This record gives sequence, C-alpha cells and structure tokens, in this order.
Amino acid sequence: MKSGMSLGPLVTRVYRYKNPSKLFYCPLCRTERAMLYSPRLGQRQYIQIAISTLFLNLLLYPVMGFRALFLGFLVWGSYEMGVRVLFKREVPCPHCGFDATTYKRDVKSSRKEVELFWQNQQEQAEVSS
Ligand SMILES: [Zn+2]
Repeated sequence: MKSGMSLGPLVTRVYRYKNPSKLFYCPLCRTERAMLYSPRLGQRQYIQIAISTLFLNLLLYPVMGFRALFLGFLVWGSYEMGVRVLFKREVPCPHCGFDATTYKRDVKSSRKEVELFWQNQQEQAEVSS
C-alpha cells in the first residue's frame, strides 16, 4: 500500500453490473458496490419454481400421484436457501474485505475479517512478485 492514503474511494473503476439489485458505497473503503442478488425471491425465481414443480409433477405423477405436488415446497425451500447463500457470499467487499452482516453482529470479528483479508492480499502479492 502507498503511504499517505487518499481520502477517495479505494477503487474508482469498478466493474459495472447490468442489473444490480442494489447500489451502495462500502462504508470502509468508499468503493462503489453493486449487489446482484437480493435475499428475497423475485418474480423470475417464482416462475422457475413453478416450472420446476410442474416438470417434476409431470415426471413423478405416475409414481407419486398427487403427492408429487409437495415437491413444490421442496423446490421452493431450496430456492429460498439458494438466494440467501448467494446474497451472503456477495456481501463482503471484494476490495477491502468489509462484511456488513458480520459488522452488525459483532464489530470485533468484522475487524478481524478485514485484517485477514489484507493479510491474504499481502501474501498473494508476495507470491506473484
Ligand atoms: Zn470496501
């Protein structure tokens, strides 16, 4: 890192996402962040769930009968879990390692995460140089 860090954002030329669900600035390094995923299911996912359920029912109706309809809940549940996992993976800042979800719970472990992030960055820089 350069000495005498500027007060501007850490990274100014960030990758532009096409349809971010949320745009914000990292509270730690002030880099613009975009979130692609929301922790809630959108219309597109509900359509996918409906289609998958319909497909599973067509496939399994001969075996399971109307019980196959319950598979819909299974599909729905796994989608709910899926979007949450994707969202959580996206939360930490790729530029400084700041994780807002950890910060809300526990400031100390959030600080540790950022420290670890910079340690890793340094190690990677040493390996590649
Ligand atoms: Zn950041």
